[in-house]
Amino acid sequence: MTVVVTGAAGFIGMHVAERLLNEGQAVIGIDSFNAYYDPALKRLRARRLATHGGFRMIEADIADPALMSAIVRDHGIRQVIHLAAQAGVRYSIDNPFAYERSNLAGHLSILEACRHGGVEHLVYASSSSVYGDRPLDGRGFREDDPAVSPVSLYAATKRSCELLSHSYASLYGFPQSGLRFFTVYGPMGRPDMAYFGFTEKIMRGDPIEVYGEGRMARDFTYVDDIVDGILGVLVNPPTAGGHEIYNIGDSRPVGLMEMIDLLEKALGREAIKIMRPMQPGDVTATYADISKLHALTGYQPKVELADGLPRFVDWWRTWNGGAAGRP
Ligand code: NAD
Repeated sequence: MTVVVTGAAGFIGMHVAERLLNEGQAVIGIDSFNAYYDPALKRLRARRLATHGGFRMIEADIADPALMSAIVRDHGIRQVIHLAAQAGVRYSIDNPFAYERSNLAGHLSILEACRHGGVEHLVYASSSSVYGDRPLDGRGFREDDPAVSPVSLYAATKRSCELLSHSYASLYGFPQSGLRFFTVYGPMGRPDMAYFGFTEKIMRGDPIEVYGEGRMARDFTYVDDIVDGILGVLVNPPTAGGHEIYNIGDSRPVGLMEMIDLLEKALGREAIKIMRPMQPGDVTATYADISKLHALTGYQPKVELADGLPRFVDWWRTWNGGAAGRP
């Protein structure tokens, strides 16, 4: 059976597609290779996937409903993992229409393709940012917490995707699972994320800007754990008409200063830190309660930040050394 993975040239999409291919599944990847961050990294990921015989990449914009429907219909697709999106909280402040196209029109286009194509399970990416700004009070955020209040435009579009999916599941009956990912990191990660940007600056000897005066905390989740969660959900669809939301996180939030400390150790260099206030759209903390996913799949995160960051750094040294043609 062929699985469609949208955003397959992206960070998480590449890791998901690769795991499926290693398990012997055929995968069709869809990605627009947009220039939100270095497209050379997306090309590198796509080349890695292309070394697997069962992989095919279609370079296309998901916000093209006719094309998405044709792909799903013509290949008899029954499972879709929809990860393509315009990511990034800060970028959304100045570029709202990129989010409208990829996250709203794009999600709708995938929903229409699944509805008309007879897809049996749509698994799609949501985000911990939908929970909004809440302090760490000793317990993780739960999927059924009543106050879900996004503060950034990015988060608002992700919450909108959940609502669109909910209505499509109940109107048209095809099962869907929305996954709220918590700060995903790892090899081949995203250059726009803090741990990646800090790495580049620390190694160049440039200062790093530490937002929220360093008092933020994030539930950093290693990419292999995210893949475990996604594929565990994929084979456990809700019943017809069902729409379920699951957190996928590490469930051990780490303070920003501790993350920088671990990064300095992995890099063997000290950072020059400039403390800055919180940025608009940012939240103080994230913390996943993963009991719902654990009950469904036995999900248990395996890689803590102290082990995962050195794995990222090992990869980054090869990437920075010119693996993708960079100086
Ligand atoms: P990413 O930016 O690396 O991957 C997204 C991919 O989607 C990119 O390759 C991009 O080119 C593609 N894309 C964007 N718009 C498109 C469009 N209109 N048509 C076709 N392709 C398009 O991001 P990622 O970190 O791999 O994130 C994957 C998903 O997980 C996204 O939905 C993101 O919002 C969500 N998410 C990620 C994190 C994280 O920490 N990485 C956290 C929460 C949620």
